[in-house]
Amino acid sequence: MLSDALLKKLRKELGQENVLTSDEELVCHSYDATLIRSLPDAVVTPRTAEDVSKVLVLANENAIPVTPRGSGTGLTGGSVPLRGGIVLCLTKMNSIREIAPADLLAVVEPGVVTGELQRKLEEEGLFYPPDPASLEISSIGGNIGNSAGGPRGFKYGMTKDYILGLEVVLPTGELVKTGARTVKCVTGYDLARLFTGSEGTLGVITSAILRLIPVPEERITVLASFKRLEDAASLVSEAVSAGLAPSALEIMDSVTLSAVKESSGLNSPEGTSAVVLSETDGFSEVAMKEAQKVRELSIKNGAISVQMEKDKERREKLWAARRGAFAALARKKPTTILEDIVVPRTKLVEMVRAVAEIGRRHQLVIATYGHAGDGNLHPTILCDKRDEDEMRRAGSAAGEIFERALDLGGTLSGEHGIGFEKARFLKKEIGEAGIKIMKRLKDSFDPKGIMNPGKMFE
Ligand SMILES: Cc1cc2nc3c(=O)[nH]c(=O)nc-3n(C[C@H](O)[C@H](O)[C@H](O)COP(=O)(O)OP(=O)(O)OC[C@H]3O[C@@H](n4cnc5c(N)ncnc54)[C@H](O)[C@@H]3O)c2cc1C
Repeated sequence: MLSDALLKKLRKELGQENVLTSDEELVCHSYDATLIRSLPDAVVTPRTAEDVSKVLVLANENAIPVTPRGSGTGLTGGSVPLRGGIVLCLTKMNSIREIAPADLLAVVEPGVVTGELQRKLEEEGLFYPPDPASLEISSIGGNIGNSAGGPRGFKYGMTKDYILGLEVVLPTGELVKTGARTVKCVTGYDLARLFTGSEGTLGVITSAILRLIPVPEERITVLASFKRLEDAASLVSEAVSAGLAPSALEIMDSVTLSAVKESSGLNSPEGTSAVVLSETDGFSEVAMKEAQKVRELSIKNGAISVQMEKDKERREKLWAARRGAFAALARKKPTTILEDIVVPRTKLVEMVRAVAEIGRRHQLVIATYGHAGDGNLHPTILCDKRDEDEMRRAGSAAGEIFERALDLGGTLSGEHGIGFEKARFLKKEIGEAGIKIMKRLKDSFDPKGIMNPGKMFE
């Protein structure tokens, strides 16, 4: 609980308008894209790293929990203030400080919206590849907090692959600069990599140096429709084995497809039960050659139709349909539980079958879609939180999906992180010793445990 004296101090340091305690503000900062809810005692909106430092010094002295928050679109409860205290909302720190084409980098504040940055960069012929489906809302700080990925992860990697350096405020209020403006830097421990994906548990990111690449000359989107999910999955395996490097290789099953079709007008022939949506890019001839190869392999694997699009607007329509999959599914039932598992690509078909079997056994509708090229699936359970029995079955099904992914040599999260939702499963993947060393690291950054308590570890 924040005392009146502390609130007064915060208001004096940051200004009245940046320390919010009205019921409306507290409720609006009590949730993310999961079902987890918890009210903060105050919402603080810093404008500078110095503001962040002042807040952390006061919070640390008074042992007040601080939960950093970007746009609150996380899918594991990461930005939900489980223990109350301060939600540190970074959306006002949203300036693109610098775009340096010759050095292929940009320096940005954490509140910059991912999609807006990407459009700005494209105008200058530059490309920042990480593309979470939430990119029109999510912030760069939140993307770094979770090391977000997206369809383009298959060829280009995830957020962690585009961080050259970070400026971070520690719970003590100290400002640490890690990394450099150079492509190479092995000066000491790679703290930038450690903070990336640390889910706000170690410090607050106040600016980032992002690595950029030139915009590819051509992009071609290919939509292949299949009668059987197994054929779609086998196209993915064959494309990978054939050494093709599409920038994205996505799969959607029949449940996802029917929801997406209703809301987006995406077309696939009667009898389609799965699609693979891929994109090739690079120099025009290379992108076309690869797209043709994807088409050939699709037909070889039993595709009943293959649509190829070069036109930017038509391509964007197909990708908007894919990005809208979660929203489309959310219209089907009152509650959607979106999971995020990864298995070795060779185990993709097995995992897809396992999800279907778990759904049948628990009498649940589970849609499966995701970044198949990476072996990263998002099984999404459609349920109704008012139905206690269904929610109990959904909880068991989610647990079994995680167990199965781990048994197949996979991992609990490809891009959404651990947060609160998966904290109880972490030990199963990294073991007792893994948890111990992570906790020791956390203690050395945050001895009083004020940073995002209740996350990552049980
Ligand atoms: C419809 C939908 C689609 C999605 N699709 C994808 C997808 O394709 N790929 C993907 O990876 N994710 C996806 N997500 C999940 C989510 O959008 C991403 O994790 C995104 O990176 C979160 O950004 P945010 O700004 O909303 O962060 P928040 O949810 O506000 O925060 C996320 C985490 O980062 C921490 N954090 C935030 N800002 C800072 C900071 N400045 N310093 C330190 N820590 C910080 C928070 O404490 C929290 O732990 C999706 C979510 C939705 C709702």
